[in-house]
Amino acid sequence: MLKAEAIHKSYGPLAVLRGVDLSVGRGECLCIVGPSGSGKSTLLRCLNLLEPVQDGRVTFEGRDILQSRRAEAPGIRQRIGMVFQNFELFRHLSARDNIALAPIRVKGEDPANARARAEVLLRKVHLPDKGDSYPDELSGGQQQRVAIARALAMDPVLMLYDEPTSALDPETVGEVLQVMQELAEEGMTSVVVTHEMGFARRAATRVIFMDGGVVVHAAPPAAFFDPAAPKPERLARFLGRLE
Ligand code: ADP
Ligand code: MG
Repeated sequence: MLKAEAIHKSYGPLAVLRGVDLSVGRGECLCIVGPSGSGKSTLLRCLNLLEPVQDGRVTFEGRDILQSRRAEAPGIRQRIGMVFQNFELFRHLSARDNIALAPIRVKGEDPANARARAEVLLRKVHLPDKGDSYPDELSGGQQQRVAIARALAMDPVLMLYDEPTSALDPETVGEVLQVMQELAEEGMTSVVVTHEMGFARRAATRVIFMDGGVVVHAAPPAAFFDPAAPKPERLARFLGRLE
């Protein structure tokens, strides 16, 4: 579904991505782990056409999207849902209206239909009673689940999550990971940047370790986390620090 080849991205003199290769098959849940500053967020933004790249190729659903015309970017981006660390919900809108907004504004959906669909999505993220609630009335975990429902409202074929639980109180992390895992199990193709190794172990089809702007190692979770499996020194040290 998505393939990135030799992605190079610099900010001025700072080379952040130094030849990243990555592929995600339909229905896969690819987890990306790695130390802070290794380029994980930058990579997601490049895949989503939120950042220009200096070199490389991104193929999405069979098309070279970096070569697509600027006018096509919004349409491509609509097919890719993105969930950020800090939710970024609209504070003056209810949960229902946060979810319905883009379908109404961007797709021109009938408002009543979009709001009814928002209720269905709220049930899907286990918040059936929260349609009328404003973000400030919700816990971090609930807000993040609204943000996931909002991304789903545009019917994406691919979901990108950038450390979706890093800003949450520990007691609400599990409910968000649960929703992400359920979506993945239903076949939603997902790319998840996370420090939650338990999630990667349970939900990932493959785990990628990034360090210094390159993919250092990629393996299925069983091998990735197997202490006995051979792995690069940098990954062994990273996993060792988390214990
Ligand atoms: P990660 O998500 O793995 O922590 P990032 O992709 O956020 O890493 O950042 C990688 C490097 O790129 C860091 O050194 C960061 O300071 C730098 N960086 C990220 N975004 C920008 C930006 N917009 N301008 C300049 N430097 C940036
Ligand atoms: Mg990041």
